[in-house]
Amino acid sequence: MNRVRLLVLNAALGPLDYSVPEGMALDHGSVVIAPLGPRQVTGVVWEADRLPGGEVADQRLRPLVAVLPVPPIAAALRRLIEWTADYYCAPLASVARMSLSSGAALKGGGTITEYRLSGTVPARLTAQRSAALAALAGRQGTMRELAAIAGVSEGVLRGLIHCSAMEPVQVSIDRPYAPANAEYAAPQLNDTQRQVADELINAVQQATFAPFLLDGVTGSGKTETYFEAIAEAMRRDRQVMVLLPEIALTENFLKRFESRFGAPPVVWHSSQKQSQRRRAWRQVASGGAQVVVGARSALFLPFADLGLIIVDEAHEISFKQDDGVRYNARDVAVMRARFEQVPVILASATPALESLQMAEAGVYRKLDLPGRYGSATLPDIAIVDLREQVPPRGRWIAPPLVTGMAARLERGEQSLLFLNRRGYAPLTLCRTCGYRFECPNCSAWLVEHRLSRRLACHHCGHEVPNPDRCPECGEADCLTACGPGVERIADEVAELFPQARVAIATSDTLSSPERIGAFVEAAEQGAINVIVGTQLVTKGYHFPELTLVGVIDADLGLEGGDLRAAERSYQQIAQVAGRAGRAAKRGEVLIQTRHPDAAVISALASGDRDAFYAAETEARRHAGAPPFGRWAAIIVSSETEQEARDAARAIGGAAPRLDDLAVYGPAPAPLSLLRGRYRYRLLINARRSAALQETLRNWLSDMNFPAGVRVGIDIDPYSF
Ligand code: ADP
Ligand code: ZN
Repeated sequence: MNRVRLLVLNAALGPLDYSVPEGMALDHGSVVIAPLGPRQVTGVVWEADRLPGGEVADQRLRPLVAVLPVPPIAAALRRLIEWTADYYCAPLASVARMSLSSGAALKGGGTITEYRLSGTVPARLTAQRSAALAALAGRQGTMRELAAIAGVSEGVLRGLIHCSAMEPVQVSIDRPYAPANAEYAAPQLNDTQRQVADELINAVQQATFAPFLLDGVTGSGKTETYFEAIAEAMRRDRQVMVLLPEIALTENFLKRFESRFGAPPVVWHSSQKQSQRRRAWRQVASGGAQVVVGARSALFLPFADLGLIIVDEAHEISFKQDDGVRYNARDVAVMRARFEQVPVILASATPALESLQMAEAGVYRKLDLPGRYGSATLPDIAIVDLREQVPPRGRWIAPPLVTGMAARLERGEQSLLFLNRRGYAPLTLCRTCGYRFECPNCSAWLVEHRLSRRLACHHCGHEVPNPDRCPECGEADCLTACGPGVERIADEVAELFPQARVAIATSDTLSSPERIGAFVEAAEQGAINVIVGTQLVTKGYHFPELTLVGVIDADLGLEGGDLRAAERSYQQIAQVAGRAGRAAKRGEVLIQTRHPDAAVISALASGDRDAFYAAETEARRHAGAPPFGRWAAIIVSSETEQEARDAARAIGGAAPRLDDLAVYGPAPAPLSLLRGRYRYRLLINARRSAALQETLRNWLSDMNFPAGVRVGIDIDPYSF
């Protein structure tokens, strides 16, 4: 090559052409440094015929500065980047940046700190510390890896470092990870699991695109079964990507993976230390990372030889990214599998309607695990009608749930109370003048967090110390907390059962891998009697003593005008119910509701998932919603309300008139003020056959807006 076109990793700049200095070896996908005016920019060499624009006359071409010493972005990933940008109407450069981890991955060299046993064994050690020492003999790794290997919290390891039993070692970020072993501790699968595993193994051997929907109730062994597919990929020296909906779940996954394969997988997420991220990125790209587990940002990593993709809890809404590039990691994962020509497994106990539809249409192959593994049975589910079973004033736990919890305490078993609301109370108001504490940057109430003595906005993070008087009327002792959050439910439990050990499990209390580890340890050992948690505890965990799940407010998720509200509510309650009775003891679930006849609630009570999906399918068909029709949103925002409204109206005025497309709005978005920006929204409903993206692009391409206005497109939006 003597002339190349670059995809410059800056969405504000278009593609640009450069000349290649003599002796510089380049490929499509090479990552290079190029001059731009007095500056230098990073770019990726792209096929010129796939990247229009950027032509520069020969005599004005400037030479590239350097090629970065990382493997070129492979063709399959370049096609995925193009597809994502095209489908989600996002700038190509913004998508490509996700592959390069915003460029941070590219800086060379460096070391990270790992730990190993020093050889010194202190005279007196707690049982836990000496067990950890035994487990770590001959091992070396980051705190996180070693904690997973030893099955202890990082606090225990810090104790060992403190007494010199362990020592730090500096290692190059280019050092490969400890290899896992496919045969380390293979389980004895039951017949159904074996059949499913064999199909998946076969697909890994075929090494071609094959999408699977692994549909199995909670505790049926989905994880155990897809681990067999991972083992097969390992035997063939091919890499595996595992996507989980939340970072919080990776701790648990690490532990299980370690006990199955003898070494932890490589973890990828955005809150890792820079050096660890760089190491992970490089090992993914060079092939030194076998299995990578991460949240949705792992999706665009440049694997050297990807052989299998797994999306666990594939129905989860957190796979949808709602800022920056708005994409759905579940859907992009399937596309990646297609471009890479590898199998992809979507695992869920409550699949999204779209996924079930794809299975029905024969696009995805559906594999079922209908029963729980071993002697565990599905829990009994009962409804508590809050109109009849009224909790005392200012309380939220109704008598049947109190009775159930008391019985568990007596037997030394565990209860889990689920309420998807962080903090103490969602609203604070003044009894004297009616003043309500609202976020100055968002159209949202401030949520009281009593543990940290603050009022906080859950959208922008704005915080104020807990006030002792009303800012409006100046009155003291007049502020009232309205409604419950998990902290308030925990208080109620403490009053009901003063002897009970209560733990709150939310993103506030489980804010680090270490805290999660300690919580899981305590819960597994039965050192916690009652867990009060948000959706953070609905997935993945397996606490043997947990036999009662109480859903505090099953109606909460049904509020608001979200088309997917019913499905999400169903999924969430079914998931949390799945935490009960996972071992030999039978579980019980009590669902508190004011609408026992709602389709969601009655389907949960009768265990008739098909009936729920059938009703939901009809509702969606009627609304022209996915999978029958498609939705898109145009979100217009500005720091001034006038500017946002004017721009949104201008867009509405220019709406194309087409038979297969209906435009609603503009109207203020559900969060009409967010992080100091006023937001208006247009909703577009299209028939499946409509050229939705092309229409949107044409519609907006000729429009000009003031500099402070941002216009974003959300394809297949989740929050309406
Ligand atoms: P799911 O992913 O469907 O929720 P898991 O794979 O987590 O199910 O299995 C539930 C529990 O049963 C786990 O503790 C798992 O280790 C255990 N289990 C499932 N299948 C087997 C098996 N074949 N042999 C031993 N344990 C199993
Ligand atoms: Zn706010």
